[in-house]
Order: sequence, then structure tokens, then C-alpha cells
Amino acid sequence: MSMEEMSAQAQEVIVKGIAAAPGIAICTAYLYSMQVPRVQAKTISPEDVESELQRLRSSNQRAEKELMKILAFAEHKLGSQSAKIFEAQIMILNDGILMGAIENRIGKELKTAEFLVFDEISKYKRLMLAAPDEYMHERAHDVDDVMNRIIRNIQDQKLFSKLEGEAVIVSETLTPADTVIFSRNQVLGYATDLGGVTSHAALLSRSLKIPAVVGLHSATKQVLSGDLIAVDGYAGVIAIHPTEETLEGLRHKAQRFKEFEQQLVGLARLPAETLDHKRIDLAANLEFVEEIEFALTQGAAGVGLYRTESELLAQSRYPSEDEQYEAYNKVAEEMFPHNVIFRTFDVGGDKLTPERFEEDNPFLGWRGIRVCLDRPEILLTQLRAILRASTRRNVSIMFPMVTKLSEVRRAKELLKQVKDELKAKGVRFDQRLKVGVMIEVPAAAILAESIAAEVDFLSIGTNDLIQYLLAVDRGNSLVAPIYQQFNPAVLRTIKMIVEAGHKHNIWVGMCGEMAGDPLATIVLMGLGLDELSVIPTTLPEIKKIIRSVKHKDAKKIADKVLTLTTEDEIHQYLFSALKGKLPDLPLEP
Ligand code: PEP
Ligand code: MG
Repeated sequence: MSMEEMSAQAQEVIVKGIAAAPGIAICTAYLYSMQVPRVQAKTISPEDVESELQRLRSSNQRAEKELMKILAFAEHKLGSQSAKIFEAQIMILNDGILMGAIENRIGKELKTAEFLVFDEISKYKRLMLAAPDEYMHERAHDVDDVMNRIIRNIQDQKLFSKLEGEAVIVSETLTPADTVIFSRNQVLGYATDLGGVTSHAALLSRSLKIPAVVGLHSATKQVLSGDLIAVDGYAGVIAIHPTEETLEGLRHKAQRFKEFEQQLVGLARLPAETLDHKRIDLAANLEFVEEIEFALTQGAAGVGLYRTESELLAQSRYPSEDEQYEAYNKVAEEMFPHNVIFRTFDVGGDKLTPERFEEDNPFLGWRGIRVCLDRPEILLTQLRAILRASTRRNVSIMFPMVTKLSEVRRAKELLKQVKDELKAKGVRFDQRLKVGVMIEVPAAAILAESIAAEVDFLSIGTNDLIQYLLAVDRGNSLVAPIYQQFNPAVLRTIKMIVEAGHKHNIWVGMCGEMAGDPLATIVLMGLGLDELSVIPTTLPEIKKIIRSVKHKDAKKIADKVLTLTTEDEIHQYLFSALKGKLPDLPLEP
């Protein structure tokens, strides 16, 4: 059946969400649910034992095949270290003692394979959870995953094998790990009920260049697997059973954007410089070494934010110093001679963390530098690894989630301790390595001048700064409309931070998503930012804007914006000011 015939059979439904990653995907939907399979204690007759054993063995084989696929993909996408978790799961599946025990019980107790898989593996799990060791608790999650995978296969609910064809994943939510694992070639788009534009799953889908719409509230209730669905990642809308007219419009739009993107390709080699020759450092935000090649072809002049938390993906422990060194050194080597700013582990909040704790308000909880200062061994190991990777002199360090000066001082003390140790051992590193702080908490913004006096640079993290300044959860779609980057309070705070840095003769950059918003670029330049760090896909567009204006005009626009008192006024003013200056930007998708 053609796409048109499929959609002609049902009414078109348009659902508005939040644009999380640009692009258009038109494909059948795959409804992904993280629900745990239900198991009942059913009895079988003695003559069914053989077929039950057969069912168990073939399910195991299918589960293994699925895991091998995920493993191969994770290795390719994330490197072998991060993919190890799947190797461990395959080992559980191949554990002869465990499987032997289940097979024995099927014959003796005459219960279904799925029930005995559940019962036997749950015993293992309970033992692991009872152990005092956090590592064992984490392994219990692996055991759980394997158990669910086998049971799903026995029940013929093939989770990953359904992804063999192309699909748009429709799901209540996606964890960052789901996003990466799903991001094989066949996944053309994501549509999720929950999530905001700066949730980490959204950031990852942008890096992986997979169109995504989040915050759809009820997509999972409106879509069935196999439905034709169109994801418009520019406008933040999905169409279920799209009409031919909608499809035509979307294909046209995709073409228009493709042409626009082609115009941008030639820009990569040109400097990010205004018409009156003011240079802006235009860098990329990265999480994986695999993204470097693309970032460089897009014209990145450095890495303004390397989210080292990606090293923790699918890990049940913090990686060792050598493992981290390997990763950071590769990034520094591939980016050379450009600079790379490694941000120390920003765990907690909605981010990856090897340890999970129940917190009522994780965003106000044990996050970022707080974790690293409470567990200095984590930070010391990471700092050692980064310093060892700094011999080419193209590496800087940045601390996240700083709220007060004493945290900066303590982190710098730990850095000094590591430097002294390395020096004593004769290990080479860049003695003049620059140290910066992310300004992403209002308290740090207010204290920016005091912080600026003790560091080499400041980088504004608007994703968090906006959430804390406006008291709006960055991942909560219910309050997404009031997550406003053009709120006057946000713009005035940015100005204050820039002035604080400049007073101490240090550069001030921005690595939050706002830096990559074409509507914000001119204002940010006008506010005096020296560096903008954006996701690689946005680089050429932002460079084009920088190259289209005079810095003195950008300043005038910023000055005018600072006199406006509401978000709407600012938004409207910018739209009209930009439209005249940049006629060929498809700002209104
Ligand atoms: C930010 O908060 O703006 C930022 C860049 O950090 P992250 O999105 O990783 O929290
Ligand atoms: Mg942040």
C-alpha cells in the first residue's frame, strides 16, 4: 500500500508539541513502550514440556540476536567501552547454570517458560539488590533488562526486531541512552509525549540529526504502530495519517530547507566575523568523538563545550583515569589545533549518572560540581585524565553548576593538587591550561564579577540559567511556553555576566541552546559575547548571520532590546529587525 493510500483510510490528526530537532520525517510509526511484560503462573501439561523448552531456547536466541545488534551499534556510535554493558547482558543470557536451572524447573514444576524465567532470574536480582555494593545494584538493572527481553521474546513482543525497517519512534519519553541506541539509520524521527527542548534526549537527537518533536502530551495514545506519521521538527508538529496536501507541503518545506542548507556549505571556511571585522569565536557543543568530523566540516573553530557525561553512557561506574584519558586525548587530537573545553562531569538532574538516587527535585539536587566536590576522587581522576590529554596545549577545563565562589576555589585547589602530583611524577601536561566556570545558576550570575576575578573565562549555560532564573523546569512541556529566552530578566542577566567578565579582562561565551538560535545571534553579539558555542548543525546558519551585520548595529539592536520590558515586545522587535537584515533566512518555518 502506498503512503497516500494508508493515510487516506483515516482522518488526519495534527498534534502540536515542541520542536526539538530540525528536519522532516515521513514514515510509519513504531510505538515504543518501556512497559515491563506481565507474567502469570500458568501450568503446562507434561507433553508440552518439550515445546516449552523449545520456546525458551528460541527466545533466548532471538534475545541474543537483538543484543548483538544493539552491541554492534553502540560500539560504532559510542565506542567499545561504553558498549560493554550490552556484553554483560549477553553473558547473563549465555549463563549455562542459570538457563539450566530454568530448563530443569520447566520439566519438574510444569510451569510456563516465561514464569520460570521471571521467577528464577528474580531470585538472582533479589540477591544482587540485597548486596551492600552499589555496583551490584546496577548489575541488577542489567539482569532485569535481560529478563524482560527474554520474556518479551517468549511472548512474541519483539521489541527491537521491529526496528528492522524504517520507523518514527513514538514514545512517552526517551532516555538519552534510548535516543542513542535507537538512532540507527532506520530511525527517521522521534515523537514523545514528554520532554522539553533542552532535555538531553532532545539535545542528542539534534546532534544525531534525527528530526524530533517532544512535549506532545498524548501522542502515544493517538498513534498506533504502523500508522503513517509525519514529524515536522522545524515547526514542532506531528501529523498522524497526514493527507496528501499535508505531505506535499512538508516535502516542499524539506526541499526549501535543504536548498538553504546547501547555500551554507561554502561558509565553513570563512571566519565568523562581522562586516566591520569583529571576530566571534564560533565553536561547537559536542558529546561524542564521532561528531568531530561533522563539526569540522561545518566550520567549528573549536569545541566550546564537551559534555564529558557522555563517557558515562551505559556505564555502571565512573570510567578509570586511563579510559577517560583515551577518550579526551582522542578528542583533543582530532580537534587540534583548535581548542577543546572539557566540562567536568555534570551528572544529576536529567543527566546520565552511574549512581541513581531518588530525589524529589533532582534539578535542585545533587548535580554537577556538587557531586564532584562531595566525591573528590571522581573529580581528581577526571582532572588527571584531562591534564594528561592537554600536552598539545589546546585543552581547557570548565566547571558546571557552580553556585558560589568557594566551589570554584575548591575545584581549583583540586586541580592544583593534581598538577603538583603529575609534576612530581614527571608527567607532561599544559601548565598554562585555562580554567573557566559555567554561569548557569542565578547566584553565579550575581557573583559573576567575583568569580571572573579568579578564572580565565566564563561560559553562560542558558539552558539551566533560564530554568533557574524563571523557575521553569527545562524538561517540562506543561510550562514550556514560559521557558522564555527573550524574557527581559534573561537578557539583562546575560549583559551583567558579560560586563563582569570584561571588567576582569576575560572572555565570556555562551554554550546554552540560546547561542544557536538565529533570532538571538545579533542580540548576543550586541551584548558583547566573545564566543558562541552551538550544536554543529546550526554552525553555518549562525555564521551567516554574524557575517551579515556590523557589530555597531548589533550593539544598537541589543541596546534597544534592553529597553523593552516584555518577552513579546522583544520577540516582535527582533523579528522585524532581523527580517529586514537577513531576508533569505527561513526564520518562520
Ligand atoms: C546549559 O545549561 O546551558 C548547558 C549548556 O549545560 P547542559 O545543557 O549540559 O546542562
Ligand atoms: Mg547546564
